Amino acid sequence: MIRLTRIILFLSCLAVGDAFAFTLTPVKVAPDVYAFIGDTGMRTTDNEGMNANTGFIVTGDGVVVIDSGPTWQVAKKIHRAIKTVTSQPVKMVVNTGGQDHRWLGNGYFKSIGAEIVAARPALADMQARGGMQLDGLRQTLGKKMAGTQPVNPDRFFDQSETLRLGGQEIRLLHFHGGHTPGDSVVWLPKQNVLFSGDLVFVDRMLGVFPFGSSRDWLDSFAAMEKLAPKLIVPGHGNICDLAQAQHDTRDYLRLLRSHMAQAVKDWGDLETAINTLDDGAYRSLRNFDSLHRFNASNVYLELENP
Ligand SMILES: [Zn+2]
Repeated sequence: MIRLTRIILFLSCLAVGDAFAFTLTPVKVAPDVYAFIGDTGMRTTDNEGMNANTGFIVTGDGVVVIDSGPTWQVAKKIHRAIKTVTSQPVKMVVNTGGQDHRWLGNGYFKSIGAEIVAARPALADMQARGGMQLDGLRQTLGKKMAGTQPVNPDRFFDQSETLRLGGQEIRLLHFHGGHTPGDSVVWLPKQNVLFSGDLVFVDRMLGVFPFGSSRDWLDSFAAMEKLAPKLIVPGHGNICDLAQAQHDTRDYLRLLRSHMAQAVKDWGDLETAINTLDDGAYRSLRNFDSLHRFNASNVYLELENP
């Protein structure tokens, strides 16, 4: 009897473990177009570093994956989830930027024969930060990083490349970068759907880093707006329309730049400039407390040293 109880206890622990295991579910955005909506918090062991959105497009001639995820294991989970909707092989992976969750799963997809493509400026960013990203994720994820190594894309495009694959038209566009220098978007003109990569953050606070540029980001955003997408799969946050992307990303960046430009012009100190910023419209965004002051100071420094 005691033995049976132990077995039941063991099995129920397994069941609980499974309930909390990190899984990925494809969300249908349009016919043959799917997104994976990641956690909007920070990178954790529970989300396996997958705190971003990725996606894939099924064509009559293979699958195109948008971003390979942060680790070998997450990439494998992405592939497993793809196989629940199609038997087509993964033909290509697009890395929409140089952040860890956009490309550190490349090794897995390369091992299954996919070709990996990115905008040209992404390479220098990946080479400069890959080791650091790996170290950072190892600290958070430990053994969940098994098998993960930085694997560069196989080839690069400059401003744009149009893929015509098995009845789908897929446009890869690089504007001016912003969040990272190699940011690009995946535009599906027939479906009116845009995978924005890290050029759009909604529901959560975006991040302006020293290796990025708020000016370039706004320039890229303006180019992206001209596409007039009906639906956006943002880099982070839920699937949205252009108006929400404008509010949560563009208008926030505009506010930071206009306020900080005035402070720099007036020789105001950084602390006062941050404290007098009217940030009320953005306080409800997730991660506001951990990122807003950091963003404001990076934009101040960017404007001080243009
Ligand atoms: Zn990101």
